[in-house]
This record gives sequence, structure tokens and C-alpha cells, in this order.
Amino acid sequence: MSLLSPDPLRAQRMRARLERLYPLCRSMTGDGVRETLAAIGEAVSLHSVEIPTGTTCHDWTVNDEWNVRDAYIADLGGRRVVDFREHTLHLVGYSVPVRRRMTLEELRPHLFTLPEHPDWIPYRTSYYRRTWGFCLTQRQLDAMDEGPYDVVIDSTVEPGALTYGEVLVPGDSEDEVLISAHTCHPSLANDNLSGIVVATELAAALAALPSRRWSYRFVFAPGVIGSITWLSLHEQTLPRIRHGLVLAGLGGPGPLVYKRTRHADRDIDRAAAHVVARRGGEVRDYSPYGYDERQYNALGFDLPVGRLTRTPHGEYPEYHTSADDLGYVKDDELLGAYAALTEIIDVLERDATYLNLSPYGEPQLGKRGLYPDTGGQAATDAMMAILWALACSDGQTSLLDVAQRAGLDFAVVAQAAADLEHVELLARVPG
Ligand code: ZN
Repeated sequence: MSLLSPDPLRAQRMRARLERLYPLCRSMTGDGVRETLAAIGEAVSLHSVEIPTGTTCHDWTVNDEWNVRDAYIADLGGRRVVDFREHTLHLVGYSVPVRRRMTLEELRPHLFTLPEHPDWIPYRTSYYRRTWGFCLTQRQLDAMDEGPYDVVIDSTVEPGALTYGEVLVPGDSEDEVLISAHTCHPSLANDNLSGIVVATELAAALAALPSRRWSYRFVFAPGVIGSITWLSLHEQTLPRIRHGLVLAGLGGPGPLVYKRTRHADRDIDRAAAHVVARRGGEVRDYSPYGYDERQYNALGFDLPVGRLTRTPHGEYPEYHTSADDLGYVKDDELLGAYAALTEIIDVLERDATYLNLSPYGEPQLGKRGLYPDTGGQAATDAMMAILWALACSDGQTSLLDVAQRAGLDFAVVAQAAADLEHVELLARVPG
């Protein structure tokens, strides 16, 4: 059983998790985050951590905790014209409690719509300025008369905790690969339940392997303050992080996009660029805007963490709206992203340097059973991988370098090297 083995139930598992997590009211803090982590914890051994309100983490202080029981705008007949129970996006994140009778005119400064997409609900939060508001479709707003309305937000914003989750899958080395996904968005599927379900699936697959080269640490935390909090509490761990990826937006349309680390030339950059480019995706340079890669790459931490997405945040109209729903995320896109991710991990696990033990011309492959007796594309790639591995294994050139130069998938070259090592034509260089 390898990490790259197909699993016919994978799409079904990811879909089931997506559907289960979608209705939960996640935010920077609160019970929706806890329920999300509990659901991930059913698939993998997850450690949930609560950081009390007021805790200082570098330049940030953990916010009050936000929870919602109910929220609505109702006409005087009691009919709810906007109802949080129908969609978590209807309430501005971190809305303070309200119980008031108001005209539409008084309500307007608290209402948010997307006139250019009249059937979509926008996603809004106000984490640090205490206020309240409702998000609704333009059509809902257009159907409202002058009121008055009963406005109810049954929420709490009070001392509690910030919750994040961690999964550690130990390997032969104590050095680690960090995988991070943000958990702070309410009912939005691509951003970022897609990242959460792909990360969960990878954690379970890694845990099922008999052994691993690296240890793997998965962090499920709210964006920005969650990763900064995690970083501030793991100073001892940070020097062991050798490679890392932020996962987000993996289930929508569009090719894969790998965003490089700030240094742009880390091992993860080379591994991910190889896989993503071979899958027809795009490789972009670092920018200090985006998801939590900007925390991990910050000067004080300087971690080798890139980012894997499909179409990045802000570049698709459904982004941060109710149109980023369960139908927007497709099983094939999730599976493709998962496959790319495991190929990147496979490079990190298996890349090595070899020395050709028979460098004086081409060794006789036929007598060692390495010369294919059938044609076809697969045999050609395998044959070319053997020739390239022999041609380039000078004790300094890695298999990934060979794959890049040969224009072949890393896995094919790694298999060729294993076959050549088996017949003692290559020797692995330690280290
Ligand atoms: Zn977002």
C-alpha cells in the first residue's frame, strides 16, 4: 500500500466530510470550530488545543469567543425574512447581541448584499470592531418593505478560547513536514472545507503507511491569529520543520496553483513545482498577501512553507459568497488535488541521490531483466527513466533533478532507481 495507491472510496469520504462540515458556523473562535475539529478527529488522531482569551501571541492577543444561538430579521407577523438558521453567512461574523425593533431605513447600514450577483449572500466578518450586521441576497433586500422589523441576534462575545487542532504522524526522522489549513470560515465549501478534507484524507493515508521518512504535523487553525498562535507556542518545533504546505481552495474549478516560499528555492518549491507543472498547473512567486503561508514565511519564522490551491482567493466570483457551496466543489477536483499533494509528498519521502556503479558505457540491461520486451508508452517512460537515472547518477544529482531533466514523472524515475539499485547498478548516497 503506497501513498499513491488509488482508493475507490476516497471521493465518497471527502464528500461526506464536506457535507457534514458545511452547515457548521465556524469563525475565528467558537463551538463551530470545536465541532469541525471533532469531526476531523473521527478520521485521524487529533489533539485539540484551547488558548484562553487574552493570551498574547507575538503582536496579537486572543480575541473574545463568539457563539450564536439564533439570529434573524422578522416582520411583525413573525415571518423571518433573513434567517441565520437557513445559512450561516446571513450573519456578519462576530456580530454582537441585538434585540430591537427597527425600520428598514434604520437597518440599512447593517445590511450587506452583492447587487451584481442578486442571488448570492456575501461573507462578512468584524472580528475586532464590535458591531453587528446581516448579509442577504439583493433579491431578499428588494422584497423588504419599510418595516418595522424585529431584529434579533442571540449571540455571545465573551472571554473563552481560540481552538486549534493538531495531528502528528511520527516518522523515522523527527524532522517534520507541516501541513496547514484554515478553519475559520462558516458555510463556504471551497474556502476552506476543501483544504480541510484533503488534509484530513492525507493525514489518514500517512498514518496508515507502515513507515514514513518524515514526521508529519497537520495544523487546523483559524487564519492569521490561529497560525500565529500556533507558531508562538511551538518555538521548539520550528527548527525541525523541513518542508511545509498551506492547503486551501482545492475543490473549485481551475488548474492547480503552487505558490512558492519566500526564498523560492526550497526543497518543497522544487518538489511542488515539478508535480504541479507536470499536471498542467501554474507556479507563482511568493507574495506577502494570501493565506497563512505569509505567517510561516514571515522573517521571524522563515519556514519553508509553500501553498497549494486551485484558482486562488479573490480570483473567482464565487469567492467569499454563498455561491461557494457544496455544488461548487467537485469530487474530481478534490481527487486531482489530493493526487497532486500525495505526489509532492512522495517526492519529499523518496528523493535521494545515487551513484552509478557501472559508469563505463551503458551496462547490459537485458541480462539483468531491465530491458522491456514490450513497447508502449509506459514501457518507454520506464525505459527512459532507467537510461536517465544511469546517465545522471553521479552521486550529486537527485532523482528529482533527473526527473526534471528527463521530463518524466518523479515516481517513474524513483521506480527506475529502485530497480537499478536492486541489480546493483546504482548505490544510494547516504544523507
Ligand atoms: Zn477566505
